[in-house]
Amino acid sequence: MDRTLVEQIVRQVALEYLGRNGKGPAPQLAVMASARHMHVCREDMDVLFGKGSELTVYKDLYQAGNFAANEKVTIVGPRGRVISGLRILGPMRKQSQVELAFTDAIMLGFDDIPVRLSGDLKGSPGGIVMGPKGAITLKEGIIRAAIHVHMNPAEAAYFGVKQGDKMKLRVGGGAGATFNEVHVRIDPASRLNVHMDTDEANACGLHLTKDIELFK
Ligand SMILES: [Zn+2]
Repeated sequence: MDRTLVEQIVRQVALEYLGRNGKGPAPQLAVMASARHMHVCREDMDVLFGKGSELTVYKDLYQAGNFAANEKVTIVGPRGRVISGLRILGPMRKQSQVELAFTDAIMLGFDDIPVRLSGDLKGSPGGIVMGPKGAITLKEGIIRAAIHVHMNPAEAAYFGVKQGDKMKLRVGGGAGATFNEVHVRIDPASRLNVHMDTDEANACGLHLTKDIELFK
């Protein structure tokens, strides 16, 4: 498909979405806290859960196709401290990765772990991961997930943002806070949805308020 056509389709979808005057209703924003979890690659899945094993669905997530799996692992940190019952999110990925909140990382014996976008793992610390059938050593891949917002191209057009931009998220309520570095991630299959970790959610009392605003 040539680029102009793609752009045309995107524009058309955006216009339909916004209504003819371009001032349609604001898209529905869902803000969610992601609890600590792991993503696994095929190779690591084979070791942890047995050759050819598959992830099974525990609960579908807000983003279509993503799910919390029944499968869980145990992770061992640098000082031999352990987090057990770490849930895997599916589907499988190209590279394994563990996403922890800062509190989780400290509990596991780390002084610090880097804040990264999913998949950007270079230079991040590793650890030992144990499953029911075997253990793997991750050389790297333990990160704090950077707060981000998923959206489709029409929603991006509504906000006037592009891939890689950063937005702000104001969460009101009793312990209000504004996050200044919300990474924009655009995908046609996405629904408007901010992902923060449990520390961030607890800090601003996310579950206690509906007074939330996403802006440039
Ligand atoms: Zn996300």
